[in-house]
Amino acid sequence: MSADDPVGRLPAEWQAALEALGERAFRAKQVFRWMHQRGEFDPEKMSDLSLSFRARLTEAGVSAPLSVEQVHESKDGTRKLVLVAKDGARVESVIIPMTDLSDADASAAPSDEDDADAAPVAALTSRARVTLCISTQFGCAMGCVFCASGQAGLMRGLRASEVVAQVYLAKKYLRPDEQLSNLVFMGMGEPLHHYDETARAVRLLTHPEGLGMSPRRITVSTVGLVPGIQRLGQDFAGKIGLAVSVHAPNDETRDRIIPMNKKYPLRELMQALRDYPLPKRRRITIEYTLIDGVNDSPAQARELCTLLRGLPSKINLIPMNPITASELHAPKAESVRQFQEILAAAGYSCFVRTRRGDEVAAACGQLAMAEDLIKKKREREELRAAKSS
Ligand code: SAH
Repeated sequence: MSADDPVGRLPAEWQAALEALGERAFRAKQVFRWMHQRGEFDPEKMSDLSLSFRARLTEAGVSAPLSVEQVHESKDGTRKLVLVAKDGARVESVIIPMTDLSDADASAAPSDEDDADAAPVAALTSRARVTLCISTQFGCAMGCVFCASGQAGLMRGLRASEVVAQVYLAKKYLRPDEQLSNLVFMGMGEPLHHYDETARAVRLLTHPEGLGMSPRRITVSTVGLVPGIQRLGQDFAGKIGLAVSVHAPNDETRDRIIPMNKKYPLRELMQALRDYPLPKRRRITIEYTLIDGVNDSPAQARELCTLLRGLPSKINLIPMNPITASELHAPKAESVRQFQEILAAAGYSCFVRTRRGDEVAAACGQLAMAEDLIKKKREREELRAAKSS
């Protein structure tokens, strides 16, 4: 139970907490619904609760975990929300309209065609589908050399309440003709680094008394933390979509760009993926950021085919988005085309992820907050160097 994070409590935990306060247990559902179904965190507005009970909730620390500071809209309809936590930490979430169902962003999360058991959103409504990309950490500790968050370093992980609040807040920014279809944990941070908070967030979002999201519409993207992948598989019976940042077909190349590969090399990672209890017809998303001259050669494409053989997967190629903290470049269009062709010819389903939200710095690895953190980190380092000289 997260005693100091009341917004992150599940209904059973609310029940226990309320009983301890001498409140009636059925209030637990009411409180939970206000927050996790209606996205209302202000006890003053929970109109069917008594005034004294609302005051107690306020005393217990129930309040909005995040507030919206800015909304940036890109020409392609992508909206980036800049959110501020109570301690002033800023995170970003990105609303991505799925303009075309073959859109590679959509392929990060399951489509109905992948999963005959999932409730077909298109059948429920004719509203346009939206994918929401949320952050799990303020900065990131993984240090991937091509990623702005990785270069910024980790400030802190988000609490489960802060993770789910991104979803409820973003929903308020959807147009009447839009519907939240898929949720991807692909923003700033490594979701499996703070496994407990991520797992709690998934439990909150999928709880039938709350938003009741289907776990099949949630995808967690990881750099490849093997113990976290194993726990996620066990705790949710493989129902949560898994995306893995592979980015290289061998350890030599992967070591150069993903420091975590030294701890969990490809052999162990691939074994964890093969062991993931995937339901039938579901596939693991393999993310592959193409970097000019590093991992984008035809030979590497062929090696990737060998690495992935036998794994139910779909491949998302992401041409690297440039970041200020790195000398690495975007691949040439010709290399991307060739790479994709080789994978397709070997029978892999392979998409090139189109760049979305670029002019508002909402594209993969570009979240502007991270660039800001890097600047501050550099300033601190310069100050330290100046002091010591
Ligand atoms: N920590 C998670 C989520 C990271 S962001 C993970 O590693 O999967 C989601 C994806 O964007 C990851 O595949 C990440 O490697 C990729 N990415 C990060 N920086 C990028 C950049 N500059 N250009 C293209 N893709 C990038």
